Amino acid sequence: MNREIMERLSEHYRLQRAQNAREEERRLREVCEKDGQLAQLIDERREMILGFCKSAVLNPKAEPPQEQMRRYNREIRERLRLDGFPEDYLEPVYRCPKCRDTGLMGEEERVQCDCARQILLSLADTVGTQEESFENFNLNLFPETVPEGMEITQRAEMRIIRDLCEAYADRFPAQRPQDLLLYGSSGLGKSYLLCCIARRLSEKGNSVQLVSAYDVIRRMRDAFFGREDDTAELYQADLLLIDDLGMEPMMENITLEQLFHLISVRRSRRLPMVISTNLTMKELKSRYSERIASRLLDSTLCRVVPLKGEDVRLARQRAKSVEEADR
Ligand SMILES: [Zn+2]
Repeated sequence: MNREIMERLSEHYRLQRAQNAREEERRLREVCEKDGQLAQLIDERREMILGFCKSAVLNPKAEPPQEQMRRYNREIRERLRLDGFPEDYLEPVYRCPKCRDTGLMGEEERVQCDCARQILLSLADTVGTQEESFENFNLNLFPETVPEGMEITQRAEMRIIRDLCEAYADRFPAQRPQDLLLYGSSGLGKSYLLCCIARRLSEKGNSVQLVSAYDVIRRMRDAFFGREDDTAELYQADLLLIDDLGMEPMMENITLEQLFHLISVRRSRRLPMVISTNLTMKELKSRYSERIASRLLDSTLCRVVPLKGEDVRLARQRAKSVEEADR
């Protein structure tokens, strides 16, 4: 599928999910203001999950407290009903429940949701149909200017980073260090590079999970709240690629502990991760705490690669409009 269309499609879902998260927070506030006892139940349930996540880091084989969880969920639903709310009022909010606003359905085989087809139709007017891969990587999209604080042009720098990512994929699983973290503002090609690595490795027959940080947290939440559990692959895939770390909703401490748990388990199994984030190293530390950030960024285990320069999409748009003006 065309990359620009893909980007616009995922942007659409990203916005939708941000809106969902705001609605979930609003409902939680509303409910807690109305019923103090219910607020306390919700608090207790959160503490329980937190306690489990913390103990699971020390003991990755620990079983989640399913029974207790079900009891809390039952009580909370019951109180919601008594307070005059729908029983599922605090469940995750989705505009399209079929794909949970990801555009993709199905567990084993991910197929496009009807809602995505609708959006794609409205985004029609496509230009080419190239897929993301090292073979299709177009260095010419990157400007030949020298970004502030750098010695070489953005394009020359990108050539180095692309080669580094390709070498990472080709040496896998013997690459050192085992993990890779790409950071820089949006539109610098991070997600594209993740796709390239994922494609190369799945072509080599490795099991690969490429997911947004949002999806990681969503899947973990669903597993905890007993809806469905499709988290196993996150823990087991030969390579886990997490796109856009920092864009997931912060569910108080739960997000932190769940992420920490995932990192710890994969590290203990020596299973590599590739992560992209728009956050700076300083922001990463303040968002995820020193403890998680230093574990993640441990230089013996993770190579940290900064990307700098101008948003490629903007640069391309400008080039296009200059071209049109010249006509
Ligand atoms: Zn859908």
